[in-house]
Amino acid sequence: MRNFRKKLLDQETGTVVKKWHQKISIALVFPNTYTVGMSNLGFQTIYRLLNVPDHVVCERVFVDKNSLPHDCISIESGRPLIDFNIIAFSLFIENDYINVIHALNLAGINIKAQNRHHSDPLVMAGGVISFLNPEPVAPFIDAFYIGEAEHVLPQIFEQIDLTYTKAKILDFIESWVGIYIPARHQSHSIVRQYISDITSFQTCSSVITPNATFSDTYLIEVSRGCPHGCRYCGAGYVYRPPRFRNFDQLSESVHRARQVTQKVAFLGAAVSDLPFLDSLCEHVYKTDMTMALSSFRADAMSDQWLSLAVSAGIKTMTIAPDTGSERLRRVVNKGMNEPDILSCVEKLVSSGIMNIRVYLMIGLPTETWDDMVLTVEFCKKMQSVFVDASRSNKKIGRMTINLNCFIPKASTPFQWAGIETVGRLKKKISYLKKHLQRLPNINFQVDSPRKAHIQGVLSLGDQQLHHLIEKAYVLNGNWSQAMKGFDLNYLTGPRQPNETLPWDFIDKGVKKEFLVKEYQSALNGETSIGCFSECRRCGVC
Ligand code: SF4
Repeated sequence: MRNFRKKLLDQETGTVVKKWHQKISIALVFPNTYTVGMSNLGFQTIYRLLNVPDHVVCERVFVDKNSLPHDCISIESGRPLIDFNIIAFSLFIENDYINVIHALNLAGINIKAQNRHHSDPLVMAGGVISFLNPEPVAPFIDAFYIGEAEHVLPQIFEQIDLTYTKAKILDFIESWVGIYIPARHQSHSIVRQYISDITSFQTCSSVITPNATFSDTYLIEVSRGCPHGCRYCGAGYVYRPPRFRNFDQLSESVHRARQVTQKVAFLGAAVSDLPFLDSLCEHVYKTDMTMALSSFRADAMSDQWLSLAVSAGIKTMTIAPDTGSERLRRVVNKGMNEPDILSCVEKLVSSGIMNIRVYLMIGLPTETWDDMVLTVEFCKKMQSVFVDASRSNKKIGRMTINLNCFIPKASTPFQWAGIETVGRLKKKISYLKKHLQRLPNINFQVDSPRKAHIQGVLSLGDQQLHHLIEKAYVLNGNWSQAMKGFDLNYLTGPRQPNETLPWDFIDKGVKKEFLVKEYQSALNGETSIGCFSECRRCGVC
């Protein structure tokens, strides 16, 4: 491990190394691999923020299911987790919950908050799934931070020093907005924090490494939230309202990127809605850097942007039509139609972007077999457009169809919709595979329905689910075995909008009536408009 850690450190640019003397020490734990964690801009941002106060030292720890006790040490100084004053978990996907327990266990810390000794480190957590629904892991965590952290976290840690005991820190942070302490929580609302003006700070990579998914790439957040209102999208709802950075700030970020690497990636749920995306791409092109985008709406592509994207080295683009059925696209409120999508594929390939990644979902609310038939037809049309456009290019790339199983997320209009059974998902996958797998120049990649089912259960769970997570951990990640004996029907079936849900105490600003209305519109196959200025519909603005 020592050599492995040294190798990682040697390949990094931007590592923060601080002396520990007289400092509060925080282990920022990503419950997955180094590669996954270092590709996460949220994790990188917290690392930078927590290292801002001089009297705080924050180091990174990565723990996945294969980690052994000697792996459970920080990257920067190689200290074990138990040596830190605070352990802060960064939570981004429910399937990582089991690694939270693994990290605590490897560190020799009791996994249940109520059983810990007062001298044990304080265990905190944050990240997007904490805003959506922290309840399944609440018994393992002393305190959550619910919301966007840039303004509040440094302020909190400015005021805590080494004389603070664990109990005193909890007493101090309890009164701060956005702090949820499960053991002390009564019934009051915890208000999700968001920053209305994201141009007041930059959110970019802190550390550049070749060992991330985007290798040696400087990640730049261009926007937060999304104006389109897709009804399944947890990030789209929890990061409301949509906010954009300005050109000056982003070109400054590109300038910083240029000093440390040759590649930038623009991230955000609504990259293609950035009003000056063309100019920004032109700016990157002039700096001789290559560029990637996290995703792109098929209906938002200008000719100018396309030619710049090709010049700036983009070779693969991702589009997300979600489904091949126009009816289902209305149900999810996608706001784009088949001609838009086919024309997008044609334009991308003709202009020289040879590889297209297409995201589709199955198991969506109201989905029928007719929708599967339509999805097959739609994929065949896309493949035909792709091949024709590639021929005129005299070069052919790959179209990759990523088929994901729908996972209902707390705090979205689909929180009441229920989860498709694994058996039905498997049948749908077999049908689509049978008809699509052999199409020339198509890669067909499928999500595991079992894994998606587990994620769905965890995303809609209450505190009782911590028993299931614990059991799955004891059974070495064998969730099927762990689920035996648990009645999960109350989570997997449809729910009534008048039910009280476990995460209702987190006030995200979106009114419940708005979510109910959106859910009813979905069931009726009706669309609704996205965000616009002067809009006051959902309650956030
Ligand atoms: S109030 Fe309107 S503009 Fe604001 S987040 Fe809600 S839907 Fe979007």
